Amino acid sequence: MTDAFFSEILRFLQTRTRRASKHEATLRNRELIHNHITAFCTLYRFQKITIPGNTSNLESYIARQMLTAYLNNAEMRTGTHFRTSLNVFFDVRSLRSLLRRQTTTTTDKRLARTSLSEISAFKTILTSAESYNALEGRIDEMRALGEEYVEAFIFFAQWLETVGGGTYRRNSVWYELSAAKSVHVLYRLSRLNAMLPEIVGRPPARWQTFPLRHSFVPTYVQFDLGIVASHILGLDRLQIRLEYKNPDFWKQHYFNRKPYRRGPGGREFDGTFWTDGYGVSILMRTPGESKGAGQKRKRGQKRTSRDAELFPYLHTVNRKDLQQYHDIVFADPNFRDTLYFMHYNSSRSNRRILRYTSMSRRRHLGTIIARDKRERFINHRDNTDEIRAAEHRLTQTNSYSTSTTDFDHYVSVRGETANVLGPLYENAIFRRIRWRTSIGKQRDFSLLGNLIRRKFGSNSLIIMGDKSAQTAARFHPSTQGVGLRYQLHRLGFRVLLLDEYRTSKSCLDCKGNTTKTNIKRVNPRPWQRQSFPKTSVHGLLECRSRECTLECDGHSRKWNHDLMAVCNFRQIWDAHLNSMEWPNDLQVQPRNEIVM
Ligand SMILES: [Zn+2]
Repeated sequence: MTDAFFSEILRFLQTRTRRASKHEATLRNRELIHNHITAFCTLYRFQKITIPGNTSNLESYIARQMLTAYLNNAEMRTGTHFRTSLNVFFDVRSLRSLLRRQTTTTTDKRLARTSLSEISAFKTILTSAESYNALEGRIDEMRALGEEYVEAFIFFAQWLETVGGGTYRRNSVWYELSAAKSVHVLYRLSRLNAMLPEIVGRPPARWQTFPLRHSFVPTYVQFDLGIVASHILGLDRLQIRLEYKNPDFWKQHYFNRKPYRRGPGGREFDGTFWTDGYGVSILMRTPGESKGAGQKRKRGQKRTSRDAELFPYLHTVNRKDLQQYHDIVFADPNFRDTLYFMHYNSSRSNRRILRYTSMSRRRHLGTIIARDKRERFINHRDNTDEIRAAEHRLTQTNSYSTSTTDFDHYVSVRGETANVLGPLYENAIFRRIRWRTSIGKQRDFSLLGNLIRRKFGSNSLIIMGDKSAQTAARFHPSTQGVGLRYQLHRLGFRVLLLDEYRTSKSCLDCKGNTTKTNIKRVNPRPWQRQSFPKTSVHGLLECRSRECTLECDGHSRKWNHDLMAVCNFRQIWDAHLNSMEWPNDLQVQPRNEIVM
């Protein structure tokens, strides 16, 4: 897969005549596209367009962007998709819900638990083989787990053989999947996934195989001012790069009040900006770097190693280095929707705590406002019914499908609805909403930064639990665990990690185990007391140890879940700074390695 293929497609969608080529790859691409383009144009009712002037720069830019999207999708998602297909095969979802349900009998729960651990063992076998042949050699181990695991292996066998040509780097098929970035492998996997209903009688996992654009709202386009200028002046093709003859051209013509500096040399405006017709983003670039499409990491640098550099663990950092900080803040990225911060000096009489919930996020993002605005706008159109009908028709199609009939159906319905929805979504209001919400995200994080600075001081050191938010709560904008580290880092805070092991379990007083509990209290919202006189308090833990119950007059000791976690963080911090042993109850015990 190359960007030449995509730029060839873009050329085919225009009325422009193509120069003859003798290049073998070009001819192959053209033939491939030629076979499908007529069918596409009929289905989508697409009229070839004419773009005046020189378009090759735009074409190659967009082609590059498309290619990057395809490769990134294959790199980041193939492993996850394989895991979800496996989970559908073994019906992990219903096993999990069986465990959660209160009505399930203990025997059933035990059975469900064994199956889940067997599935995990099966995945471990898959993870720890250096090649497909090695996997085949371990079929007896799979048989020992149960016949269905052999069946699963047979089902995926042909695909597993194609991954990396049968050999897996770093002894792991998952590593190979993301290292190979193969769009073809991802496609083959989704074919298998589409076959799942026949094999196991359950709907397949839903995912997008190819990163296609679905939105009707026009997207951002990149402009090069040099090209714009030469279009206005009517210069011919060869003079397009006029400004680059003078390396200081943009320095002389573009001024910004605050020079943007990061690292040595800073960044410069080189004439590139983005626009969607509503907002403009200006691109600053390190001089001398090529204009490749978004490459976030340096080549060869792995995410994990970069993470380890940016966010070291507390116990690996020198004590002297830590003693210079006066404002130490402990942060617990709660797996639900709250971020809980506590200052080192916080005490019962002087609480220095910051709670940042999904509600505050949502308020900053303006999600609900945006939705209402959109609905109101549609309701005030002349053809509201037509729009609703078109939107309904679109929801009936399956744009995720890899089957050509389904996808053809989607394309043709989209083509039909485009004359209703296209003009609607071209309205500036939708771009404005999108711009607003994207600004909202930035505002949200800078606001969080300000909140932290105001509450805890400008040079705070943040000690954060290392759990990445695993289970994103439904119906809430997610509080990113891993992403959050980067945001805090970008806001200028130093972030250290801390092994969360048992920090949300161990009782602060007696070091015993705590368990979840539920108590009722009088509804704190007086206007709702009529209908709900009592509400339950969430996020409570109780300690039933002998010591604690004695101290609390026979009752169990109650802890707020978040508070307990950050207080335990504080104990670990104290122990590290005074070069004492790590608190006994919070010490990481050798556990069985759990894969996934
Ligand atoms: Zn206790």
